[in-house]
Amino acid sequence: MKWSKTLIQTLRDNPQDAEIDSHKLLVRAGIVKKLAGGLYTYLPLGMRSLKKVQAIVRDEMDKAGALEIVMPILQPAELWRTTGRWDTMGPNMFKLKDRAEREAALGPTAEEEVTDLVKSVVGSYRQLPVTLYQIQWKFRDETRPRFGLMRSKEFLMKDGYSFDVDAEAADKTYWNMYHAYERIFARCGLKAVPVEADGGDMGDSQTHEFHVLADAGEDGIAFCEGCGYAANLEKAARKADFSASRDGASEAIEEVETPSARTIEEVSRFLGLEPSRFVKTLVYSADGKCVMVSVPGDRDVNEVKLKRFLGAKTLELAAFDDVLAVTGAEAGFVGPVSPADKTLRILADISLKGAFGRVTGANKNGYHIKNVDFSRDVSISEADYSDFVVAAAGDACPVCGKPIAIRRGIEVGQVFKLGTKYTDAFKAVYKNDKLEEKTIVMGCYGVGVSRTLQAVIEQSHDKDGIVWPASVSPYQVCICLLDPDTPEAVAVSDALESALEAKGIDVIVDDRAERPGVKFKDADLIGFTVRVVVGAKGLANGGVEIKLRSEDKSKTRIVAPELAADCIEGLLRG
Ligand SMILES: [Zn+2]
Repeated sequence: MKWSKTLIQTLRDNPQDAEIDSHKLLVRAGIVKKLAGGLYTYLPLGMRSLKKVQAIVRDEMDKAGALEIVMPILQPAELWRTTGRWDTMGPNMFKLKDRAEREAALGPTAEEEVTDLVKSVVGSYRQLPVTLYQIQWKFRDETRPRFGLMRSKEFLMKDGYSFDVDAEAADKTYWNMYHAYERIFARCGLKAVPVEADGGDMGDSQTHEFHVLADAGEDGIAFCEGCGYAANLEKAARKADFSASRDGASEAIEEVETPSARTIEEVSRFLGLEPSRFVKTLVYSADGKCVMVSVPGDRDVNEVKLKRFLGAKTLELAAFDDVLAVTGAEAGFVGPVSPADKTLRILADISLKGAFGRVTGANKNGYHIKNVDFSRDVSISEADYSDFVVAAAGDACPVCGKPIAIRRGIEVGQVFKLGTKYTDAFKAVYKNDKLEEKTIVMGCYGVGVSRTLQAVIEQSHDKDGIVWPASVSPYQVCICLLDPDTPEAVAVSDALESALEAKGIDVIVDDRAERPGVKFKDADLIGFTVRVVVGAKGLANGGVEIKLRSEDKSKTRIVAPELAADCIEGLLRG
């Protein structure tokens, strides 16, 4: 392909709304162009890379035995009502009506659609297992689209769904997909880490997220260098050993006036005590019933763990009036010692078991209490001490006890055991060999295809631009033709282009009438894996210059024109 025959727009300046490097480079290198907030057009270069990511995903899915289909983006509301998700998906789902007032959604995912399909096609155990997948545009009505393709309103996703006869068979399928995912991300040139995640509404469901480690990542991940334990912050547990925490006598509790000091920081400053001595107490409404939870003052409540512990369907901070009614005070002055409602269930983080000398709210506006001793002053049942905080750096790894580190990650894929949540709702059953009806067991598997494309850039770039891995580079080779008016140089460039294409390597020839500096800058910005410089001067000195984008400028090789194609092939394979 000649540069002059394609459509490439590179930009000198960063887009104003871009906060992270990959977003800036996507736009500056002419990979995508913004249409409106959260909506992007894939320009010719971007389309080439996107298709390469798709091809890798498709190839690994096919090899893993999955079957490709494509289902409508426009999904009738009835499907979503069958599982109750029409009402629970929340404002992120795009809903619309057709001219006959029939409601529908622009699919954010397709569990309902695919379960409805399988129910009507599969009837016998002989047809199982089956895994179906599609690569399809998905929609999310983001409040605040940002980070380019990372959090956009429309995105390309591979969503796969497996159907098995029982949980044991579903487990085999799950790990088969897990390993396919490892291969997909490796082939895209990504270092992606499988991370344990929370099963959400699905109870104890097993699920792993695949994260690309990057400082710009939106998600926190707890990592253990010692044993390799990795979990997202919602899920990450910690080993709690607080045997050493009780090393002194307890003093009598003392009420102190703390007017207008509500936050831990304010009260801590007011009383001149370390934030770690404080207890943070919040009142939640779990399925409509109030519950109080206390955690150390320097930690945050993990609502996912709390919801899971309570087995609640909904969990939200209690309303102002409810807090006042059950505790006797406004939020900011509440605590676990004698709340107004004596029947209020109180939970506390495991690290507070036996803790003493703490400061809590007094359940009286404008007051706190000092010297709180949890075993003496707080009425909590043994079982209601548990892990209720968000993991933090330095916590003990739940597996080996070594301190964990917190890293940032970009989620690019997820594998999930769904059990029978959807097949129960749709009554998707099969007949076993004794002709008994059994419910099909499901799994689901997503890859953010467009997000993966951007994650590659976030993980692989430098100050000059993108550094594409060969597998997903828009063109693997860019020939910078410095003298497009010199017949000898043009002849060498044309011959090399043909030789590379014959080897199945894709090439773009920069044949523009531009200065060498402009061509080099653009080649570096777009980040083609290999750069070849063909010019009259170089040819007079014996050859063409070949360099990998990932290499330092000093690494340039001078190669005789007739050997150049083999040399490049070696570098790309290498
Ligand atoms: Zn560990």
